[in-house]
Amino acid sequence: MKVTVRFAPSPTGHIHIGNSRTALFNWLFAMKHGGEFILRFDDTDRERSKAEFAEAIEADLTWLGITPNRVERQSDRVSAYDAAAEKLKAEGLLYACYETPDELERRRSRARALGRPPVYDRAGLKLSDDEKAAFEAEGRKPHWRFLLPNHDGDPFVTRRTEVTWSDLCRGEQSVDLSSLSDPVLIRADGSYLYTLPSIVDDIDMGVTHVIRGEDHVANTGVQFAIFEALGAKGPVFAHHNLLTTRDGEGLSKRKGALSIGSLRDAGLEPMAVASLAVLTGTSHSVEALPNLEALSEKFDLSTVSRSSAKFDPAELDGLNARLVHDMPLEAVSDRLCRMGIRPTEEFWMTVRENCNKVADACHYWQIVCGNVDGKIDEADLEFITRAREILPQGEVNGDTWGEWTAALKSETGRKGKSLFMPLRKALTGMEHGPDMKALLPLIGRQNILDRLPG
Ligand code: GLU
Repeated sequence: MKVTVRFAPSPTGHIHIGNSRTALFNWLFAMKHGGEFILRFDDTDRERSKAEFAEAIEADLTWLGITPNRVERQSDRVSAYDAAAEKLKAEGLLYACYETPDELERRRSRARALGRPPVYDRAGLKLSDDEKAAFEAEGRKPHWRFLLPNHDGDPFVTRRTEVTWSDLCRGEQSVDLSSLSDPVLIRADGSYLYTLPSIVDDIDMGVTHVIRGEDHVANTGVQFAIFEALGAKGPVFAHHNLLTTRDGEGLSKRKGALSIGSLRDAGLEPMAVASLAVLTGTSHSVEALPNLEALSEKFDLSTVSRSSAKFDPAELDGLNARLVHDMPLEAVSDRLCRMGIRPTEEFWMTVRENCNKVADACHYWQIVCGNVDGKIDEADLEFITRAREILPQGEVNGDTWGEWTAALKSETGRKGKSLFMPLRKALTGMEHGPDMKALLPLIGRQNILDRLPG
C-alpha cells in the first residue's frame, strides 16, 4: 500500500520550529518510503482560521523544502463530516447533550470531591424526547458526544476496554476507554471539533501513517474507536516528543515564538533549521546536513527519544555557519545577485569561510569594491606609505601578497603580525577576515592604491 502521510496545521497562526519538526518528520518519512505528503489545513474553527496564515504556512514549508503532493482544506469538506455524523447518529453512537459548560464543571467538581474520576455520566443518553424538546424550547442547542465502546450493551455499566497500538516512536501504547468521557464531536453551534473531521479525512484520503506530537497520545485511543465505528481500520501512529527550549518552555504558535518566518528573516538557512528541528531529541547528534536527502538518510522514527527534545535556539547560528562555510557557489549565486553582488567563484570561495550567514557576504563585497573606511595607526603611517610605493607592478594576482610582503619584510625588518596587520586594516578596515592572498586580487590595483596614502 502506498505510504500516505499528512501534516495538519490549523491556520490560526504562523508555524514555529516545533511545528516544522512534525512537518519534516512526515515529509522525510514520505521521502524514505516513496510516499505521498498531504498538507491538510484543519480550518474548521472559522473564527480563528485565516487564509493569510494558510498562505504563510505553505510559504514556510516551501522554504524548508517541503512541497506537498496535495493540499486539502477541512472547510471544503463539511458535507463529508455531516454524512459521517449522520451515520453515527443513526447508529446511536452520537447522542445529543444539553448541559451548559457551567453545569458540566459543577458535575466534575462534585465527582472529584467524592473521589471519583470526572468522567461524563452519559446523562444525555437518558433524556426522553420530551425532555429534549423542553431544553430546545428554552433555547438550548445540543452538543453531540460519541458513545465510547467501553460497555457490553448497557452504556451505564462500563468495563475496562484497552485500546492498544504499536507506536512507531513510543512502542506499545494502551489507553483504557472506560477512564475517558465520551468525546464531544460537534459543538452546540453546530461546528465540528477537530476529532471527527480529522478521522473522516484520514479515511477518505487514504492516510496510512499519522505522525504527530505526543500531545495527541491521549486522543488516539478515542480516535481508534471512531475509526472503527466508521467501518475503517486506524492508521499506524507515531507520536514524537515536542521541542522545548532549554528551560523547558513549550513553543506556542500564537505567541510567534521562533516562527519559521522569523528564522528565515534572520537570514538562517532552511537546512540549519531543519537539521535542528529533526535531530534534536533523537539518538543522533545534532549536526548540519546539507539537504533533506541527507537528513532523510539519518532519519528514523525509532531514534526519537522518549524524553523531551530540548534545544537552545543559539545552536542555530553555529549550524548555519557550518553550512555556509561549505556551500558551493551555485547554492548561493541567485541570492548574491539579489544582494547586488557579482557571484564569481573567486569571490565566494574567498569569503564563505568568514560568513556565518550568506548575507555577511555583503560586507566583504563592500571591501572588494566599495568604499572602505581603512584604519591606519600613526605608528604605521611610514610603513604603509612605503608599501604603496613598492606594490608589485602589473596585475594583482595570487602571488602578489606573498611577493609584496616579502619585499616589505626585507626592507623594513617587520615580520608576523606587525607586517600583515597594518596592511589588512588599511585595506579592509578590519583586523580579521578572509585570506589576504585571495582577497587582494579581488580588491584590485586601483582600490589598493586608493586606500593607501601616497
Ligand atoms: N490540527 C491538529 C494540530 O495541529 C492536527 C493533529 C493531528 O495531526 O492529528 O494539532
